Amino acid sequence: MGQKSVFVRGDTSRVNDCPFCQRIASGRELSSTTALSAALIDIYPVSEDHTLVVPRRHVARVEDLEDDEWSDLFGLVRDITRKVAAGDGVDGVNVGFNSGAAAGQTVDHAHIHVIPRVFGDVDDPRGGVRWVLPESADYWSQK
Ligand code: AMP
Ligand code: ZN
Repeated sequence: MGQKSVFVRGDTSRVNDCPFCQRIASGRELSSTTALSAALIDIYPVSEDHTLVVPRRHVARVEDLEDDEWSDLFGLVRDITRKVAAGDGVDGVNVGFNSGAAAGQTVDHAHIHVIPRVFGDVDDPRGGVRWVLPESADYWSQK
């Protein structure tokens, strides 16, 4: 298999502006790392140790990844989730991605959020990622 380019074909300008490409290029990534993927500390964390797992190649959306990149990325997501879950006082983990602006994506380099959770960080954690659409998140009150 040939070496993959870090550039998006026909659109190299966005790579230079991309915060995740810049972090990878400057070596500011966590030590848990693979050939095709990197883990970055989120600089605006929603909880302590909020981590982003990203493909090394600049692709805008996770569904743009090749099979080997997808497998590698989710293998690293598993490893980071295990590490985060074993952290002091961590009771649970949310893992998710926003794909596309309509789904809330704000950085145009595909990434998976790994967010440690502790009991009491919100009043009622039920539903977790369902709260992306708050009006229908609590199905248990609709039963
Ligand atoms: P999303 O809204 O899913 O695209 O998430 C983008 C994430 O990137 C947010 O959680 C931000 O806090 C995070 N973020 C933005 N800029 C940087 C940066 N330079 N380094 C690390 N994380 C960043
Ligand atoms: Zn990038």
